[in-house]
Amino acid sequence: MPARIEDEFGLIDRLRGLTPQHEGTLTGIGDDAAVLEWSGPTRLAFTTDTLVADVHFPLAASGDVVAHRALATNLSDLAAMGAVPRAFTLALTLPGIDAEWVSDFARTLGALATAWGIELVGGDTTQGPVAVITLQAWGELPDHRGLLRSGARVGDDIYVSACPGEAALGLQCVLGRAATGLEESHRAALAARYTHPTPRVALGRALGGLAHAAIDISDGLAQDLGHVLRASDVGATLWTARLPVSAALAAWPDQAAVLRAALAGGDDYELLFTTSPADRSAVAALAQQLGLPLTCIGRIDAEPGLRLLDAEGRLLEHPPQGYRHFSGTASA
Ligand code: ADP
Ligand code: MG
Repeated sequence: MPARIEDEFGLIDRLRGLTPQHEGTLTGIGDDAAVLEWSGPTRLAFTTDTLVADVHFPLAASGDVVAHRALATNLSDLAAMGAVPRAFTLALTLPGIDAEWVSDFARTLGALATAWGIELVGGDTTQGPVAVITLQAWGELPDHRGLLRSGARVGDDIYVSACPGEAALGLQCVLGRAATGLEESHRAALAARYTHPTPRVALGRALGGLAHAAIDISDGLAQDLGHVLRASDVGATLWTARLPVSAALAAWPDQAAVLRAALAGGDDYELLFTTSPADRSAVAALAQQLGLPLTCIGRIDAEPGLRLLDAEGRLLEHPPQGYRHFSGTASA
């Protein structure tokens, strides 16, 4: 039975030793800063993500869910760059110490970090009015300069991993707003896609020598694809009928809501990437190897903008929008 966590230092002690230490870590948790030895690869990818209570997770979310989502979002950013996860820091602001919540948080954080080989090397712990969890993570790019948003080329295929939209509908399930009549197994599957997203680390690594551009879908497929299009100075056509549909999505009673979730729902952390049509068999082989569906949903065009076509090839006039912070509060 671990000692009770009563204050900042008890909490830090609980976090110490949570993840295996890499050989090159000279100093981890316990000093003013972590010191890591760096040899071999010269390129590092850095990312940071913040989760705010009541914005990024329901206030009632367990420590397990919050830890999983906090680490998975950062690992997903590393995956989208094609990086190998290496180490992270954790800035934790909590309104108080709920020993059970903190234990759940630490257990999941340790398990997930260990599974992905990423080491917790430091952080900060403070008290504040609401829970805010910020991770900074970094990874190695041993054999390329990073999978960028800006590399998409005219004629490229646009692929997506797994089934975007599941997490957004999963959140509805978590909040108890799921459509009636949905089977319990589907409800549970969708909820898990929101509470425990899988960062596509192995896919990102494999795409290093294959994809021209990549992004992880955090704020909605259409919006995140839009970032790739602008960064690459290209446009795209997307065939909505090709969007992958899981059994749980197919079972959702309102299929218009499924399409909205697939295009504009956030929180999936699937990868969207573009590849040359010449590499279709390589992408298919990769999907097979990873046991992960990779679906071609569109094509990169020279004409700017994103065109969404329905099953009959007609243009969708009012495509759904993704999530934007501050969009409801702008003063000008
Ligand atoms: P300082 O005041 O010098 O910033 P702290 O007392 O805040 O040091 O932290 C002591 C040690 O514990 C540091 O090595 C710091 O990186 C680590 N630490 C503090 N909070 C966390 C946390 N939430 N997760 C991981 N390590 C932490
Ligand atoms: Mg400090």
